[in-house]
Amino acid sequence: MDRVAYFYDGQGSSRTTVRLKIDCQMRSIKFQLGQEQKWYRANDLLISPRLGSTPRRIETPDGCILDVPDNEAIDQLINASEIQVPGRWIHRLESKFRYVILSVVITVLFVWLLAGYGIPVLAKHVAFMVPVTANSVLGEDVLVALDKVIFSESQLSINDKQKLTKRFFSVAESMSDGYKFRLVFRRGGKIGANAFALPDGTVILTDELVEKAQTLSEVELVLAHELGHVVNRHSLRQVLQSSTVALLIMAITGDVSSAAALAGALPTLLVESHYSREFEKEADRVAYDYAISRGISPRHFINLLDRLSDTDGDLGFLSTHPSVQDRSQIFSVQ
Ligand SMILES: [Zn+2]
Repeated sequence: MDRVAYFYDGQGSSRTTVRLKIDCQMRSIKFQLGQEQKWYRANDLLISPRLGSTPRRIETPDGCILDVPDNEAIDQLINASEIQVPGRWIHRLESKFRYVILSVVITVLFVWLLAGYGIPVLAKHVAFMVPVTANSVLGEDVLVALDKVIFSESQLSINDKQKLTKRFFSVAESMSDGYKFRLVFRRGGKIGANAFALPDGTVILTDELVEKAQTLSEVELVLAHELGHVVNRHSLRQVLQSSTVALLIMAITGDVSSAAALAGALPTLLVESHYSREFEKEADRVAYDYAISRGISPRHFINLLDRLSDTDGDLGFLSTHPSVQDRSQIFSVQ
């Protein structure tokens, strides 16, 4: 057999094309290199295992290298010489197509499970490892950032603010301790009728949302919904879920101090993206339970959302929240 091969002298990177004669009977190879005739016994060669269609690399005892694209010819030589090539099973495995398909399927399944279940579970775990006091840093920085780019000063009357604050603390009272619950009022501007919760327990309520409400109970249930996001640590969980590497490091080392570094992602998250359906359901559940416990009809929440859906701009509360139809599961009450 006469095959094309590429010869390297082992000193430099220059390559010489040679005609390689493979002699299975004599269990040897030979080729002409310039004036010189090279000859090697197969047993003295170091032959790389077969890997797909990549050329085989052969090392000679005198330090030269040959790359041989013809894998079949090399396999014949190996079989005839009964020499051992490490890692041959890799090729055998790889050449079995269904193993390839199977491993792709397993990989996809694994990644899907990790992303769909593993990551959220880890994110929840890590988010609850962060002490409530550490969350206060997150709140302050985020509010400052949002004030710079979005909000302006609230124009609500002192009287309105007092009434709403009273309702807010009625909600906050029913939540777990440790948070620095406070209600801040802002003019929403381009984000219109809206409400956000920061991780430390701060809730931002826009004038526009208050103006859209017809009863205090409507706003109260929005506040309960927002505090539902806080006590379930949704913002942190969401940020963690989207920064998988940071999350894995924190989960493995238990060092959650770097969680604060993720705060930079929070303003965008709160204003532009939205929580997962799962998180919204959890927050709705909190609002619903609160309403029932205080004898407030959960209908108030739906009423407000209905009104918002008629007039809500592109960036309002409903742009980051599921529509009324999507929440009917929990608020399917008369
Ligand atoms: Zn929500």
